[in-house]
Amino acid sequence: MTWIHLSYMLASVIFILGIKRLSSVKTARQGNIMASVAMLIAIATTLIELRLFQTPFDFGLIIIGIIVGTAIGAWMALKVEMTEMPQMVAMFNGLGGGASLLVALSYFWEKLLESPANANLAPYQVLGTDGAISMLLSILIGGVTLTGSVIAYGKLQGVKWVPDKPVLFPGRHALNAALFFGSFGLGYLTFFGSTSSASMIIFLLLMSIVCLILGVLLVVSIGGADMPVVISLLNSYSGLAAAMTGFIISNNVLIISGSLVGASGIILTNIMCKAMNRSLTNVLFGGFGGEDSGSADNREYSSIKSTGAEEVAMVLDACTSVIVVPGYGMAVAQAQHAVRELGDLLQKRGCSVKYAIHPVAGRMPGHMNVLLAEASIPYEQLVEMDDINSEFKNTDMAIILGANDVVNPDALDKKDSPIYGMPILHVHEAKSVVVIKRSLSPGFAKIRNPLFEAPNAMMFFSDGRKAIEDLVREVKDL
Ligand code: NDP
Repeated sequence: MTWIHLSYMLASVIFILGIKRLSSVKTARQGNIMASVAMLIAIATTLIELRLFQTPFDFGLIIIGIIVGTAIGAWMALKVEMTEMPQMVAMFNGLGGGASLLVALSYFWEKLLESPANANLAPYQVLGTDGAISMLLSILIGGVTLTGSVIAYGKLQGVKWVPDKPVLFPGRHALNAALFFGSFGLGYLTFFGSTSSASMIIFLLLMSIVCLILGVLLVVSIGGADMPVVISLLNSYSGLAAAMTGFIISNNVLIISGSLVGASGIILTNIMCKAMNRSLTNVLFGGFGGEDSGSADNREYSSIKSTGAEEVAMVLDACTSVIVVPGYGMAVAQAQHAVRELGDLLQKRGCSVKYAIHPVAGRMPGHMNVLLAEASIPYEQLVEMDDINSEFKNTDMAIILGANDVVNPDALDKKDSPIYGMPILHVHEAKSVVVIKRSLSPGFAKIRNPLFEAPNAMMFFSDGRKAIEDLVREVKDL
């Protein structure tokens, strides 16, 4: 029916426009609303289409599913802490992959096992070669995404039974390769080599199990510090699985939206790879964060200069340029509003204030942008790493607020450091550096930071929000 195709087309266009709007902090909220509206149109159109063509289905069950799903989704979104957003994305990816897997399996069941007309036919004879390949890929990618995302969630959430450190064992690459090719082999036997229900069920089950195990093994061998890349990659996988499912059930909106998620996930993966110094090939083949990732330096700190609000305010009195470098600690301390107040105060005193944004500062892409935007800090003051790095050497003071790994100079010159090669913010080049954090504890990568001992650096040990509020008071008293 033409209007059904038009509705799907409308939903697809709104999805595309919504994604476009997500690319800027200013319009991201609108983008989210647009994507939700597109999803509503897609669901409503699908239900009407099913009703019109009298496909036998239990309408009541679908309504219950929608109500329960909406309630759980709304509850999760309202309850989640900003710092736990990556875990939530991991769960969404996993559920997306799991849904694709289940749709493919149920379609297989309905078309091949339940239908007497198709008895004694190989699946590819019923589905066509392209249909069989789509279903195979939907099961494979969906299965890997489901269990891979559960492990990624466990690593980030600190779940007891999922080790944060990479689980490495000899021959893991060979085992992963064997499972990868084995799943295709089993897929071939299921879709192209079986004509009896019994052998189809056995091969299909084996293939599904192998994919689920592969998802666990691929992610469990990666350290927690690389999880953002993995989550972004799994996001892309979940989109690809959905697109494959779209081919199976001939649903254009699922093909388009799945492809959009697949493409945007891989673009984000690429950006994150660069920011975390991982090659895409390295990520795709899953062998990263392992034994060759360098050695940690656990030496004690020897020459730390600690400071307090009064002293920092006195130095600030003479500053004409300040760059604030926010990190994960700012999110934990919820210090963004105090930061805005300090920035305003300094600007009133004629000091230029900028905010340096590292692409993987915090715990999710865009984390710092979102927090600073929440505090209404003008977008023009937020400067990306590549643009601001050359400015540090002419800056009077760099205030590091709860950032650690993204300002660790070992990434530049210590070849055996686990983060060697990762692009960082060159705060050590500023005339003076104030590091605000509660202790000398390491950051996410769990490594020592020589910046703390640098001759131009002072440590301000405090909760981030309290430190900035104290600083605001002192600057007001100057
Ligand atoms: P880090 O995790 O390196 O360091 C954060 C620092 O914040 C800690 O050293 C901690 O020190 C301090 N801190 C914690 N709570 C507070 C508080 N209440 N007040 C003040 N300080 C506090 O953060 P970065 O932002 O520098 O780097 C991000 C890291 O996270 C990178 O390694 C990145 O790879 C990784 N990552 C990034 C993701 C992303 O997409 N952005 C996702 C997942 C991981 P102390 O305890 O002493 O206070």
